[in-house]
Amino acid sequence: MQSVDYIIHADYVLPMDEKLTVIEHGAIAIKDSKILDVGTSKEISKKYTSPSIIRGKGKVVFPGLINTHTHAAMVYFRGIADDLPLKEWLEDHIWPLENRWLSPEFISDAVELACLEMLKGGVTAYNDMYFYEDAAGRATRKIGMRAVLGVGVLDFPTKSANTIDEYFANAESFIKDWKGDNLITPCIAPHALYTCGKETLIRARRVADTYGIPIHMHISETKWEVEEIRKKYGMRPVEYLDSLGFLDEKVLAVHCIWLAGHEIEVLAKRGVGVSHCIESSLKLSVGIAPIVSMLKAGIKVTFGSDSAASNNDLNILSEMSTAAKLHKTVSEDPTALDAKKVLMMATRWGADVLGLGKVTGSIEKGKAADLVIANLNKPHLIPLYNIYSHIVYSMRPSDVEMVMVDGKVVVNNGKLMTADESEILDKAKRWCERIKKFNEKA
Ligand SMILES: [Zn+2]
Repeated sequence: MQSVDYIIHADYVLPMDEKLTVIEHGAIAIKDSKILDVGTSKEISKKYTSPSIIRGKGKVVFPGLINTHTHAAMVYFRGIADDLPLKEWLEDHIWPLENRWLSPEFISDAVELACLEMLKGGVTAYNDMYFYEDAAGRATRKIGMRAVLGVGVLDFPTKSANTIDEYFANAESFIKDWKGDNLITPCIAPHALYTCGKETLIRARRVADTYGIPIHMHISETKWEVEEIRKKYGMRPVEYLDSLGFLDEKVLAVHCIWLAGHEIEVLAKRGVGVSHCIESSLKLSVGIAPIVSMLKAGIKVTFGSDSAASNNDLNILSEMSTAAKLHKTVSEDPTALDAKKVLMMATRWGADVLGLGKVTGSIEKGKAADLVIANLNKPHLIPLYNIYSHIVYSMRPSDVEMVMVDGKVVVNNGKLMTADESEILDKAKRWCERIKKFNEKA
């Protein structure tokens, strides 16, 4: 008998391996933060022993969900400006708020709240695009979550930098400081084509190549953007990026709502991953990305929440359910986006498009133990005929009981173990009071 750190038993173990195996009465052996073995409870109990055995009667274990696009710290702007068109929302509300409030202290406190919300909803890793990512990295590490943190770069000044040179200097020092960290992967995030000119894009591409890191960018979110880029460069956004040699498997393209058919082919050919943020897009009424066509073309489409200022939560379970239902209707095909595929997109593919496919995204030997245990003994989860269907169409964040990231229990019995939840909530309320008072005076 080999001694391991944890043995987790559950009625259902979904490793999300290539074969999409479902192990009924399954178990997982975890040692040194990694998955050592997966099998039936009988097999695992014969081979391993552990001081920490988690009994999973009425439970399901699946890989941690991956939020492939957010601006985590914007949770502090949740609900501050709703029911507006994107351009007005961004230019008249969000950018002025950011210019007034962003600081390392704001980011650190806000990211703790974002991590708390995501972990309690079964999300073990997120991909960020924002500013002061060093503060975000420290807060995320403290909470014990995995993240790819994209340093935002733009052509115009914001609170975090005045010039393009300053943005890139910030980005390079962040990348050097965090490269090789077990939880945090640095990334470069040119904001969008309408905020980043050719020089910025080429520099971002060069940084990604030099350090071997991902690129994270909003592409074709609105009709307006496509028109602007056509006027400016005589090409559509994906055509233009491809003409610069910008696109490859390192690029995660967010939104991709207004794509022409040949642009889908280009993204597929270049191996670009896509983050689909359906609830944010629906709320901003910017359009619906043609993800059924993208999936047919072989593009790995994944789920993002976008910011809590446009969504207004960081709930990937609900993104999965909304996307599945909406695309069935849009494509007039109820077989489109079946539950198995949706969970694959939210786990294994999420890791793949972030360059973390060897590290996380499935419960397989050698990968980090990033997983979720959810309680199936709930009125909305009974009876159970199909476990995938339950996770995608019926499960809620409140069903998540335990979350493990890198072999460490970060949520237990639905409570955060790595920091004081009430302190995180109190800090958020105090910031909200300050912002409200300021808005009243302004
Ligand atoms: Zn975004």
